[in-house]
Amino acid sequence: MPAFEDPGEGIKIPQKNIVKFVIKEALKGKKAASQEELAYIIERELRRGDPKYRITGRRAREIALEVPVKVVTETREGPMPRRCPACGHSLKKSHTRNLAGRNIVTGLSCARCGYHGENGKWAPRKYTFRLY
Ligand SMILES: [Zn+2]
Repeated sequence: MPAFEDPGEGIKIPQKNIVKFVIKEALKGKKAASQEELAYIIERELRRGDPKYRITGRRAREIALEVPVKVVTETREGPMPRRCPACGHSLKKSHTRNLAGRNIVTGLSCARCGYHGENGKWAPRKYTFRLY
């Protein structure tokens, strides 16, 4: 088992398939406004069965991508990433030519998770989740 699935005493990490199922049910007809909210919704469901269940916002988001769920990423100013800052996938660049004739990157987008940044706003600020 990967290290993150060894949380210590009194905490239970839910299996991925269970989390996927809960996400699908939880997002029917509504959306989660952040990864923290998504994690909260998942934990609330799981804790009906066992109050020891925990899930982090990051893991909730990573599993949501596999459901798949539509993730909208809002961005803010930040350094230009080499790979998708939301999921680690490679990025597609869009360019424009500046006055000096040099190509500059104006946009980055990810085909896996739907991340899109432009004009210096590269850093994920907030994620929203809904079913397709
Ligand atoms: Zn991505």
